[in-house]
Order: sequence, then structure tokens, then C-alpha cells
Amino acid sequence: MRPETKCLHEGYKAGNGEPLALPIYQSTTFRYDTASEVAKLFDLTADGHMYSRISNPTVAAVEAKIAALEGGVGAVCTSSGQAASLTAVLNICSAGDHFISSSKIYGGTVNLFSVTLKRMGIDVTFVDPDASEEEIAKEFRPNTKLVFGESVANPAISVLDIEKFARLAHSHGVPLIVDNTFPTPILLRPFEYGADIVVHSTSKYMDGHAIQVGGVVVDSGNFDWKDYPCLTEPDESYHGLIYTEAFGKAAYITKLRVQLIRDFGVLSSANSAFLLDLGLQTLGVRMDRHCRNAEAMALALESHPNVESVNYPTLESNPYHEIAKKYLPNGASGVISFVIKGGRDAAARFMDNVRLANNVVHVADVRTCVLHPASETHRQLTDEQLVACGVSPGLIRLSVGIEHIDDIKEDILGALDRI
Ligand SMILES: *Cc1c(COP(=O)(O)O)cnc(C)c1O
Repeated sequence: MRPETKCLHEGYKAGNGEPLALPIYQSTTFRYDTASEVAKLFDLTADGHMYSRISNPTVAAVEAKIAALEGGVGAVCTSSGQAASLTAVLNICSAGDHFISSSKIYGGTVNLFSVTLKRMGIDVTFVDPDASEEEIAKEFRPNTKLVFGESVANPAISVLDIEKFARLAHSHGVPLIVDNTFPTPILLRPFEYGADIVVHSTSKYMDGHAIQVGGVVVDSGNFDWKDYPCLTEPDESYHGLIYTEAFGKAAYITKLRVQLIRDFGVLSSANSAFLLDLGLQTLGVRMDRHCRNAEAMALALESHPNVESVNYPTLESNPYHEIAKKYLPNGASGVISFVIKGGRDAAARFMDNVRLANNVVHVADVRTCVLHPASETHRQLTDEQLVACGVSPGLIRLSVGIEHIDDIKEDILGALDRI
């Protein structure tokens, strides 16, 4: 099946006389006839659901669909994108360990890595993803456990050279984790370029309708964990079970669920998984429309007299144009940023002028959304501080929706005209 078909037919499959739509298993727990069956579940020697903090049939169906879309051996749906990144890292990093991350990643992930994980004794080094391999290789240490990057970064909209990052990680014996939230597996599947683990915020395009906060971790099954004692040595909390021996290619994702999800309690709820599944069913058509609309919008913005610059990977003028051709041949999602001439005040007037677009702290939605960092998310910063963190005072982040392109153009270009 092609990805668009998998969106509809992977995961839940209705049996004879069963509901066509994925049922919501709104139950905390599951009943068994004998104590020995429950004992087997606790020992991880039998498959089955026991308690919805660890697994649930509705959630499992969505996990299977996303694993199929990315081409992985298994997935775990978490309560947020942040919970996905947190558990993906903690599954193989402990106090005293170190990892390398691209500096062009989501702001919430920067906080998680540089503040919260640091307090837990895990050290991160941020690298410029566009630096040379030699440059980045210098940052590896004996205790480096993984490399992390974002395929299309939020909000920089830069494109990660996944093959370069995979080479760097693998030549140092560590896996590459890629946050693939913006492209979704419709536009890009990082495992095909050597990534080992993929994470998503499913709150964005996968859901698409702004109705659930969620995340997912997907395991390619390709990484050899021989140098990771947490996977190759006995787990005390399961009577000495060894993940690589018991679960083979699915060792990483099984450990993540039965150890971290069990202990942190950050599994998706059945209701959220059901809503996410509704979004996933139309992901193929939506991503196509988002891309076509964004391409048209980026070109229109480039020729508007009140616009200083436009950042969208498929534009000829974009520094990631060539790399986007390789990794994103079908489009680069619906997120654009552009700088309005006249700085902070002119951009604030633009924001007041838009009528159709929603002013929200959210991206990747079916509705067109706009955000002005200098007067919203980054308002405490001076113009100089803004420039230092790569956000110019007149910058607007535009998340192009699936409305008719002429309505989007009339709204955005009209608001620019009226500045
Ligand atoms: C939003 C986002 C996250 C965090 O996801 P939540 O679901 O909000 O916790 C992580 N990575 C990227 C790229 C995002 O856009």
C-alpha cells in the first residue's frame, strides 16, 4: 500500500460483523479468566492489554498505523510531543550521559534538553546542523549516547541532511533520532535515509484539526544496541529480563513502553488516539493541499512590495532549495515564515489586519494560522535579542491551511497592502 492508502487501511481492521470505525476502548483495565494469564502479561511472555497506563486497544491500533506509515517495527503514542522526545532520549540516556542535538529544533525541545534534562544529569551539546561533518564530529565524547535533529525545523523551516547526521551518529556507534513532525511520513520517511528512531508531535498535521495534544515514538528496528547495557543487561524490574534477547528488533520500543511509559504514565488516552486516527485518515489529501497552497503563497509573498524576505524550502531563493529537492520531492509542508518591511510595528499592524487567518500559538492546522513572535511568543526580548536568536522583529510565521488558495491570498496580501 502507498502511504495515502495506509492512512486508511493500516491499524484497525474490522472483522466479520465488527464496527467499521475504530472503537474507543474506554476502559482502564482488562479482564482475564485466570491468574496465570495475568502473570504472563506481567512477565511479558504473552501479548495482551492489562491496564491503559501501559497499553490500550484503541491506542495500539493508531500506533500500528503510524509504525506502518513510517516503516518501523513498532510505535508508542504518548500524551504529547514533549513526552515523545523525553521518553525517546531517556530510554537510552541516564545521569552522566551526553548527547548531541541540532540547534535548529522546536523551542520546547530546547528547554527540555538544556534545562530539564541537564538537571537530571544528562548533558547536551547543540550543533549547527549545517556545519561540516568534521566540525560536528568534534563534539562526540566517550559518553555520547545519541544524536537528535528535526527533519524540517519549527520555526526555522530549515531542512536536515538526515544522511549526513545518520553517518555521523553511526560512525560513533550511536543512533539518530529525528523529529519528523512537520513533513509527516506522507512527505518524508527518515528511516529511508538512515534515521533509527522517529518522534512526532501528533498535535500538528497528523491530528490537523487542533483537537488533541499527543506524540509518538517509532522504532525502525535497525539499530544494533550491543553497546547499550540498558538493553542488553537484565532489567531488575522484570525479574532480569533482557530486552534485546526477548524482543529482538523491537527491543528499544518495548523497553520504552514497559519501563518508561509504565513508570511515567504518559501514554495517549483512548479518546485522544481515536481523534488522532480521524486526522490520520485524511493526512494524505491534507498534506498535498497544504503544500500546494504554501508554494503558491510563498511565491505571492516574494513579489509583494511590503515583504522583505520569504523563507520556504522549495523557493529558488532558499538556502535549502537543493536539499529540499532530495528529501522533500512532494512538498515541504504548509509552514512559511516571512519578514515584513518596517519591523515590529508594521508586523503588528499586519496581524491586526488579517481577517480569515487565526492568530494562535499553533501551527500545522487545517485553518490558516499566523503568529508574530516579536509581539507574542518572544515579546520580552528587545529587537537586538530577537536578532540574536534568529527571529527578526518583522517576522511572521504563517501556517497555510487548506482553504481555497484565493481566499488565503486575498486575506494575507490584503492585510499586507493595508499596513
Ligand atoms: C509542537 C512540537 C513539539 C512539541 O509537541 P507537543 O505536542 O506540543 O508537546 C515537538 N516538536 C515539534 C517539531 C513541534 O512542532
